[in-house]
Amino acid sequence: MANSQYGYVKSFETPDRLLPNTWIVIRLDGRGFHKFTARHGFEKPNDKRALDLMNACAEAVVTDLPDVIFAYGVSDEYSFVLKRECELFERRESKLVTTIVSHFTAHYIYLWPQYFPSTTLTMPLPTFDGRAVLYPSTENLRDYLSWRQVDAHINNLYNTTFWMLILRGGRTEKEAERELQGTVSGDKNEILFSQFGINYNNEPEIFKKGSCIYREYETSPPTVDAVEPSNDVPEPLPKSAATKKAILARKSAIAPKAAPKELSKSQLARQRKREMKAKVVVRYVDIIKDEFWEQRTWILG
Ligand code: ATP
Ligand code: ATP
Ligand code: MG
Ligand code: MG
Ligand code: MG
Ligand code: MG
Ligand code: MG
Repeated sequence: MANSQYGYVKSFETPDRLLPNTWIVIRLDGRGFHKFTARHGFEKPNDKRALDLMNACAEAVVTDLPDVIFAYGVSDEYSFVLKRECELFERRESKLVTTIVSHFTAHYIYLWPQYFPSTTLTMPLPTFDGRAVLYPSTENLRDYLSWRQVDAHINNLYNTTFWMLILRGGRTEKEAERELQGTVSGDKNEILFSQFGINYNNEPEIFKKGSCIYREYETSPPTVDAVEPSNDVPEPLPKSAATKKAILARKSAIAPKAAPKELSKSQLARQRKREMKAKVVVRYVDIIKDEFWEQRTWILG
C-alpha cells in the first residue's frame, strides 16, 4: 500500500494478537434463533434438518481451516478449537473470529436449499455472533467441552419434556413451563416415560450428545514419532498452492515458534499434508469421559 499523509490512521488500530501457546476456542451462536426457527417452521424441539445443516457448515470450516482440530455443536451454536500453535492470521482475534463466523454463515445460506428444499429463506435471515476464549491447559479445554455437552444434555431433556407436554399432552406453553418448574432430571425422565411412553435413553444420539467434528485416521494417527526426520529443506508447494488459502495454510504450518513439540519444517509440512488428506467426520459421542480422547491422541495430544 502506498504511503500517504493519511497513512498514520493505521496506527489507530488495536493490536489483538492472542496469547501464544494457548488453546483458542471460537464459539458462534445464532442471533435470535428463537424467532428465526419459529419463522422458518422448525420442528420442535429438535429439527434434524437444521442440525444437519449446522454440521455441514461446521464441516466446511474444519475442512477449509486445518488449524481447527475439533468442533462441537448443539442447537444454534458451534465451538471451534484451534490448535495451540495456530499461527493463522498471526493469531489476530478479530481476523480469526470474523473469518470463521462469515465462513460458517456463508455456508448456512448457500446450503439452506439442500436441507430445507421446501422452505424459502426469508427475514430474519440467519446471522451469527462469535467470540474467542483462550484456555491455557488441556484440562481447561476439556472442561470447556464437557460444559457444552452437559449443557446440551440438560437443555435437550428439558426441551424434549416441555414439547411433549405441549404437542402430545395438550398443555399450553405456560402450563408446561409451570409443570416443569423445580423438577430434576429423574422427574423429567419419569414424565416422559409414564405420560408418553418415551425412554429418554432411546432418543437419537445427535439430540442427546450434540455433534463432534474432527479428523479421523484409518490407521495410525500422525504422531510426531511416525513422521520421519529429514533435513530442513522445505518441500515444493503442493499443486493446489496456487490459491492463497493453501499458501496461508502452509505459512501457518511452518510458522509456529512457540510449539511445545519442536518439529522441523519438513516434518510440519508432512504433518500438514496428512491433516489435509484425513477424513473429516461428524460423530455424536461422549466427550466428557477420557475414552474418546485416549483413543484419539492426535486431537489434543
Ligand atoms: P440469542 O441471539 O441471544 O442467541 P436466541 O433466540 O438465538 O437468542 P438461544 O439461547 O441461542 O437464543 O437459543 C436458540 C433457539 O433456537 C432456541 O429457541 C432453540 O430451541 C432454537 N433452535 C436451535 N436449533 C434448533 C433446532 N435444530 N430445532 C429446533 N429449534 C432449534
Ligand atoms: P486478504 O485475505 O489478505 O484480504 P485479498 O486477496 O482479499 O487478501 P485485499 O488486499 O483485500 O487482498 O485485496 C482485495 C483484492 O480483490 C484486490 O486484488 C482487488 O483488486 C480485488 N477486488 C476487490 N474488489 C474488486 C472489484 N470490485 N473488482 C475487481 N477486483 C476487486
Ligand atoms: Mg481488501
Ligand atoms: Mg447468544
Ligand atoms: Mg442463539
Ligand atoms: Mg444458542
Ligand atoms: Mg481481502
